[in-house]
Amino acid sequence: TESNYDLVIDGVGVNFSGFQAVSNFSMVVKQGEMRVLLGANGAGKTTLMDMICGKTESTEGRIFIGDTEITNKPPHTIARMGVGRKFQIPSVFKKLTVRQNLSVAAMKNTSVFANLGSLKRCIHLDKLEETLELINLTRRADELAGNLSHGETQWLELGLLVILNPKIILLDEPTAGMTADETLKTSRIVNDLKGRHTIVAVEHDMAFVREIADKITVMHQGKFLAEGRIGDIEKSQAVKDAYLGSG
Ligand code: ATP
Repeated sequence: TESNYDLVIDGVGVNFSGFQAVSNFSMVVKQGEMRVLLGANGAGKTTLMDMICGKTESTEGRIFIGDTEITNKPPHTIARMGVGRKFQIPSVFKKLTVRQNLSVAAMKNTSVFANLGSLKRCIHLDKLEETLELINLTRRADELAGNLSHGETQWLELGLLVILNPKIILLDEPTAGMTADETLKTSRIVNDLKGRHTIVAVEHDMAFVREIADKITVMHQGKFLAEGRIGDIEKSQAVKDAYLGSG
């Protein structure tokens, strides 16, 4: 069947021993779309991302990539089915170069079902160079990862994901701790990823959100509150009351 990268979330919820952190939440992110999740602290954004990648089991509802259900599968299975998540905490090998880090990540893809054909494809040099370009690190390719700035480290993390060709990319506050210049470069990277991947990001920096988001979904107290383009969201009285006006 044709690959379909839509992310379909249908009425999911999670109950942590009596506390309903997310309830009856639905959203559809179309293939190639860049969606930002907004919500005050405790709104349930991280818990939702955790459910998508299998880190937290949902207690209600279902999640699909296209027609393929991924609800409550183990994280490694969901990863193999095409969901990549970038956390804020780096996982790069500091004593390897940028290029070596990317090569290692590319080989992860085949560590279980390796055969020569796919291995060759995975460490294809074009893909490596293309990824270096995309994450803005071509000139730093032979630098040790341990010598990168905070922003550069975050881009390398993104590269480690992208080189595996995920259908869905989940980003946890991708600009946290970045300088204005790094934030700007990150918006270019995310805009380059659009179309090729379906992306969901939790992000608070509204200037950055304006640069990257196709659409925004707002959560409030574990529930769906609103969805739309940034202009609609900023005009929404419900959103102002629940979130934008509160901070
Ligand atoms: P933030 O912007 O602060 O990260 P968030 O929107 O990501 O907020 P979550 O981290 O998803 O919110 O938390 C939603 C609610 O669920 C919070 O009240 C949190 O305390 C609670 N919660 C999260 N994980 C657990 C857990 N493992 N056990 C119990 N409660 C939890």
